[in-house]
This record gives sequence, C-alpha cells and structure tokens, in this order.
Amino acid sequence: MDKRAKTRDEAAELYDVPLERLKGIGPRRAELFRRLGVASVGDLLYHLPRRYEDMSNLTPIGRVVPGKPVTVRGRVVAVRETRARHRRLYVVKAVVGDGTGTINALWFVAGRRLPLVQRLAEAGEILLHGTAVAEETGLVIKNGEWDAVARDSLHLQGIVPVYPATEGLPGRVIRSAVAGALSEFGPRIADPLPLELVKRQGFVALSEALRQVHFPRSAGEAARARRRLAFDELLLFQLALGLRRQWREGTGRGIRFAGPFSLTRQFRAKLPFTLTPAQERVIDEILGDMAAPRPMERLLLGDVGAGKTVVAAAALVRAVECGYQGALMAPTAILADQHCRTLTALLCEVPVRVGLLTSGQEEERCRVLARAAAGELDVVIGTHALLEEGVRFARLGLVVIDEQHRFGVRQRAALASKGRMPDVLVMSATPIPRTLALTLYGDLELSILDGSLPGRKPVQTRWLSEEERPRVYDFLRRQAAAGRQSYVVCPLVAEGEESSPGIKNAVEEAQRLAAVLPGLRIGVLHGQLRAEEKDEVMRRFRDHELDVLVATTVIELGVDVTTAAVMVVENAERFGLAQLHQLRGRVGRGAIQGWCLLFGEPQTEKGKARMAAFARLSSGQALAEADLKLRGPGEFFGTRQAGLPEFHLPLEELFGNTRAVEEARRSAREILAGDPQLALPHHRGLAQALRRRFGALLDGAEGQLCG
Ligand code: ADP
Ligand code: MG
Repeated sequence: MDKRAKTRDEAAELYDVPLERLKGIGPRRAELFRRLGVASVGDLLYHLPRRYEDMSNLTPIGRVVPGKPVTVRGRVVAVRETRARHRRLYVVKAVVGDGTGTINALWFVAGRRLPLVQRLAEAGEILLHGTAVAEETGLVIKNGEWDAVARDSLHLQGIVPVYPATEGLPGRVIRSAVAGALSEFGPRIADPLPLELVKRQGFVALSEALRQVHFPRSAGEAARARRRLAFDELLLFQLALGLRRQWREGTGRGIRFAGPFSLTRQFRAKLPFTLTPAQERVIDEILGDMAAPRPMERLLLGDVGAGKTVVAAAALVRAVECGYQGALMAPTAILADQHCRTLTALLCEVPVRVGLLTSGQEEERCRVLARAAAGELDVVIGTHALLEEGVRFARLGLVVIDEQHRFGVRQRAALASKGRMPDVLVMSATPIPRTLALTLYGDLELSILDGSLPGRKPVQTRWLSEEERPRVYDFLRRQAAAGRQSYVVCPLVAEGEESSPGIKNAVEEAQRLAAVLPGLRIGVLHGQLRAEEKDEVMRRFRDHELDVLVATTVIELGVDVTTAAVMVVENAERFGLAQLHQLRGRVGRGAIQGWCLLFGEPQTEKGKARMAAFARLSSGQALAEADLKLRGPGEFFGTRQAGLPEFHLPLEELFGNTRAVEEARRSAREILAGDPQLALPHHRGLAQALRRRFGALLDGAEGQLCG
C-alpha cells in the first residue's frame, strides 16, 4: 500500500477513533465528554483551552499570602487523614515545607481516601497550586491541585491549559486525555492547509500547533498557535461561502433588468428631497447588479435613519419598469404598514401599483392575493404573511427584505422561491463589526450606505439617575408645548407579566404618566393589542393627536415619525445595545434635535461600561466595535440569529483581528480562483476538512466540491 495514502486515511480516522481508546477514559468519562460535543480523538484535539495559567513562578512558602493563587514546591513533611464531623467525608491533611516555611494542605474526599494519602506519602516532593486562607493553625490551601515533582507534570509546571469547566470532568482529566491523544495520535494529524500556504503565513504544522495550543512552552507560543487555528477556521468558512457563491452564480439564469429608464427618471424627479451622494452610489451599485444576468444577492447596510427606504424604492421602481413585480417584506405589521404609506407617497407620481398584505381583514387580503397573482399589483408589501402558501406572483423579479437580521436565510429563500431566480436585496441597520461583516456576508455583495442626511443633528444621549426624573418630565412638557413628541419605552407590557419589582410595564406607566403630565395626550402601544388597535394608536401618534407614546419594543424597528424628538427608555439595562441603538434611531429623524434619555441601573461593571459606551458613541458601527471588545459580538449579533456555525474558538478571538480575517478571505478567494472544486491533490485536505466542519452550510453547493 502506498505509504502516503495510508497516512491520509489514518488522519481522517482520528474522527472515528472513540475516546475510550485513550488511557484513563472509560465509558462513564466518554459519556461526559460526549456531552461537551467531544466524541472522538479528533474532537478532543480541538477541545481548546479557554485560557492558561502560568505555574512557572514558584512562590517560596514563607512568602505565601492569603487570597492570592500561588504555586509552591515543597517536601511532604507529614500526611494524615481524619474523618470529617458531618457527612461521609474524609479530610486528608498534609504539611508541606521548603527552606522558607511550611504550609498546610487539606483535601476533602468522599470514600476512597487511602490512595490520596498513599500517593502524597510516596511523592516526597510536590508542586501545590491553590489559594491560601489564614486559619488559626496557619495558612491552609484547600483542595489545591498538586502533583509529584518527580513526574513530568502536565498540571502544575509551566503554562497549564484551563478548559471550560464541566461537571465530573476536572481539568486534570481533560489535560491527561489531551496529552495522551497528542502523544499517541499527534504524528498522524494531517495538515489540511497546503504546505505552501503554511509557509507563506509563517505557521507551524497543524500537529505542532495543536500541541502548542494545549501545552505551550510560553504565552507567545500559545498565542501563535491559536492564531494558526483561527486562520484555519476562517479560511474554511470563507471557502464554504465561496463555494456557495460559485454555485449560485453557476446555476440557472437570473433576470437581466434591461430597458429604458423613463420611470426611474420620473421617480427621481418627483422625490421630495435630493438624494445624498451615498444614496446615489448605492442605488447605482444595485441597479448595476440588477442589469447583470446572474441573480443579485446584495446586502444594504446602513445605520438607523440612514435613508434606506428610498433606496429600496428606487430598486423596486427599476424592477417594475422592466416589467416585473417586486415584494417588500418587513418584520412587523407596523413597519409594513408604514412602508406601504411611504412607498405610496414616494410613488404617487409614477404609475406603480402598491398593495399591502397583512394577516388582517380577510376580504382585503383576498383581493390583494388575487391582484398579485394576476400581475395587477406591481409592488406587494407585507410581513411574514408574504411567505404563506397562497401568496403568488405573476412575475416576481425583485425581493427586498427590510431589517433582515429578523429573518433567517430560509425565509429569504422562501420569498425568493415565489419567483424564478429573482434578484434579492436585503437591508439591515444592525451594525456589526467590519470583520464579522466580511466573514458573514462573504457570499453577498455589500453596499454600504454611510454619511448622514442633510440637516441631521446627532441624537443627544444621556444616562440619568432617578433624581433627574422630575426634570425629564418637565422636559417632555416643554417639548410637547413646542409641538414635539416623545416615546417612553418600557420592557414589559402589563402588570403581572413578570414578577420583577422595579421593572416598568407600558400599561401602568401610561396611567402613571397621565397623572404626572396632565394635559398631555398619552397613548399606549404594545404587542398584545389587536392589529386594528395598533394601527389606530400609530395613526394617532403619526397624525400628532398624541404627545407621548408609551410603548414596548414594538416600535423598535423602522418606525419613522419625523416630529418625534425624545426617546425615554426605562430599565435600559434590560435592553441589548443593538436594541437601544434601534430605539434611539426613532428620534431625530427630521430637522429637529433628538434626545435619548435612559433610566437604568446595571448591576455589573460590564453593564455600566456598556451603558456608558452607549451614551458616548452615536454611530452603530462604533458601538458594534466597542461591544466586540466588551463582550464579543454575541449580543449585537447573536450567533444563531446570524446563522453562524459553531466555531472552535470564541468569536472575539476569530473576528477581533481584522488583518487575519482579511488574510483568510483573500487566501480563500485565491484558492478557489485557481481550483474551484478543490480538486488538486494539495487541496484535498482542505476539501475534507471543509466537508467535516461546514458541510451543513454548503446546501446545493456540495456538488461544487470535488469527490
Ligand atoms: P432607515 O435607513 O432607518 O430605514 P429611512 O429610510 O426610514 O431610514 O429614512 C429616515 C428618514 O430620512 C425618512 O423620514 C426619510 O424620508 C428621510 N430621508 C431619506 N433620504 C433623505 C434625503 N436624501 N434627504 C432628506 N431626508 C431623507
Ligand atoms: Mg428602515
């Protein structure tokens, strides 16, 4: 048998080798590992340390102080066991000494205590790690980690890996298992990266990187090894996205929107405002893409209030003038309704027929359905209701999805499937760090709507204390007197929804405010109202029949009332930063100054830091970057929500390094450009790893991959 082929097979097999093959792992421990998602030796090698502890600094025993973790090295001067007073516990006590002093070590053991006593007695000299407490008898380290000095210790010497803790699987068990796996199988770990790429990036081979990441000789070595593993992850992910893109571009035929621009010109001429240069640019990008034969999949990213709606309208007009229909999907009925009004107004001078599909009135609904199917409506706007079976189009050419982070990839595909390869434009204000955008949307074209609209002033944000509450109400009164409106957002709908004292609910808050703000017209809006009630409240606010709208986060997305100046958020600590940013985006949407006033008492330091960052930073992009530093992108951009797969490394480690992300993206493009099916012999390892890691992402693109 060819020796190289054999090595490759063995490498693949690491994922077939059960953990029980390792010394010290029986069925019970194997089951505990399985719960961590570690089923094979291959999985175990990628169960990465969360952090490291440096044990190389030994503290002389005479210099140990209570409350600080230390590692000491000393002789076991005495060891004995006693029975604990209660419970079936034994106490094993050792006295450990070096030339500088002695310290007591205690272990509490259930049942079999003799082995411990014996091992300590036999060890002679030990390394002991833990935090000492001062007791009457002197300093004591309780349940410390220890190891015999004679042995080449995995656990207490040098830099020691710390794994995510799990019930029943102490760190030392994981360490021993990983060490066993590395020594037995290490030489068989094949590197999926082509040798040339490994060299160019200055990486060590994968087997060496894995050893270094688990048992580094220095902090620098660990960091370098982790960077190599991060690169692998990013590269494979980019390759998966690249394969998807190839597949989409290769299948079928999209629509080429061609023909004169008469309607477009008419539409532009009748706009109530001048488009900004940024709006002009993204509209050009989109129309250019629509003119190409391949199906467009483009993301329009623009902060809240950046003016995305008119861009969508321009794309819809273009589709209609080329003889197609358009669909616009929004996450809430309030927003769909608003889009319908906005578009009807923007399009009133051009012959484009707009319909709204809601799940409301049956008669109206049937009429819209029939007209969409017959091609008598040019643009149909709606919520998820658009996805229903009965919704048909005569010739759907463009799908627009607003606030796309509220929809999954599936829903995007479901709406698109109502036409034959329509172009797709998704819009989002969810600010995400640039590195994450590059990665996530590696398969989408990206249009960025930046810059601000003329005459806009940044919203003033203040984080206030309870003492300032009366002043806030004065402020709301003065604003109302000046013809400006306010929102007051509460986390809960009504009393009793959740029994947390101090958490405000919209219904009660509205009643309270009616007393505090006599003479002001106050309305309530929340998700539990009937659709008609919601419509009516929203209409009254829009038509300025209300001064204050007390609401839940139903108004979070998209709502555009240009006379609203103040956004008060109650219990602001209960909202995510992205949510707060959306809420803040509801005010200051016209020429008037917007205010965002937050009440809230975060309990943690991090919570306080987040509130302070929010008050300080006004752009969503800056906030997203700050949030990435504070706690990883998880909150701003939930992993599940974004359709991100599980990575071996934490997201902030993967995406915190812009250069690495760009490097991986570039490498992936280069590889696919030269070998679109990863069919070359030196790419076979990549193809294999790709299937195993991100196979689920490939869908129909699986066929793009060789073999
Ligand atoms: P978002 O990007 O949050 O969806 P919208 O499209 O709702 O923002 O736009 C916010 C507000 O700005 C709307 O009232 C809209 O009419 C207005 N607007 C959009 N473009 C311009 C422009 N070029 N000049 C002035 N106002 C604009
Ligand atoms: Mg919007």
